[in-house]
Amino acid sequence: KGVSSVACVGGGVIGGGWIARFLLSGLNVRVYDPHPEAKRIVGEVLSNADRAYGLLTMAPLPPRGTLTFCTTLQDAVADADWIQESVPERLDLKKRVLADIDAAARPEALIGSSTSGLLPSDLQTGLTRPERLFVAHPYNPVYLLPLVELVGGRSTAPETLVNAKAILESIGMKGVVIDKEIEAFVGDRLLEALWREALWLIKDGICDTETLDDVIRYSFGLRWAQMGLFETYRIAGGEAGMRHFLGQFGPCLSLPWTKLTDVVDLDEALIERIGVQSDSQAAGRSIRDLERIRDENLVGIL
Ligand code: NAD
Repeated sequence: KGVSSVACVGGGVIGGGWIARFLLSGLNVRVYDPHPEAKRIVGEVLSNADRAYGLLTMAPLPPRGTLTFCTTLQDAVADADWIQESVPERLDLKKRVLADIDAAARPEALIGSSTSGLLPSDLQTGLTRPERLFVAHPYNPVYLLPLVELVGGRSTAPETLVNAKAILESIGMKGVVIDKEIEAFVGDRLLEALWREALWLIKDGICDTETLDDVIRYSFGLRWAQMGLFETYRIAGGEAGMRHFLGQFGPCLSLPWTKLTDVVDLDEALIERIGVQSDSQAAGRSIRDLERIRDENLVGIL
């Protein structure tokens, strides 16, 4: 079944993105975030989202939902069909907040956590209705990027994930169900490998941050955005396809091209080197300027 009202607990970078996605999909959203500046922060994300959706001309937007800030968590979640938790990444805090949500929500409400790496089995321990708790891990900016990694814990009911996936599709998102829970799920695990290698390339003076970003965005970044990794490599195997590709290039992986799992020491000198290169790359553009450029490019690709 669809949802008509949602609650967001935590309205920072990610909570604000969820709020914008839900509102612009026509859903009513109730928010609880004790931060004194929460309204302003959410308002800024919302104005970015409005601007980006103004550029999306594929389909008319539904009438926007209503936004209500609540002074208690209980008031925010009591009538919601879906509650999205996006508080800071600390297990003790999340468990406390999720227990409060579990106690105040309607029995059939779904509870998603935005965590980037905590295991749903740990998050749901001690809840009265652990079967409706799952990880719904989005990507920033949530109002534009469709992906949500759906991860169930030991006590999550299979139908919880089926319902969550259908609801996400109804608001233009792409829910993918991850079969087993691991730290960092799938997306962040891939990004960690790339990030580690990138830091080594800068530390070893092989290239600067701008060159590295150009290498990604003018080549495989464009391929990844439309076909991912495996389908791209299937084509690279030519008419003989994937098996040929694996036979030909698989053995190359044993050559020591990468630093593999060696972790770079992020000492002050390296942080400063990256900071200086990144400042020069930004060429005076503020974070807000960069967010606008990012959003325009994403809209173009979408
Ligand atoms: P953030 O610090 O920007 O926002 C957290 C918000 O939670 C703050 O506004 C804070 O006031 C609020 N908060 C704190 N205690 C609260 C409470 N008891 N009840 C309600 N609200 C409370 O952090 P963020 O980057 O939005 O991250 C939130 C979650 O999303 C984390 O679990 C993080 O791992 C996950 N996540 C982050 C990203 C990212 O790119 N930033 C991406 C995907 C997932």
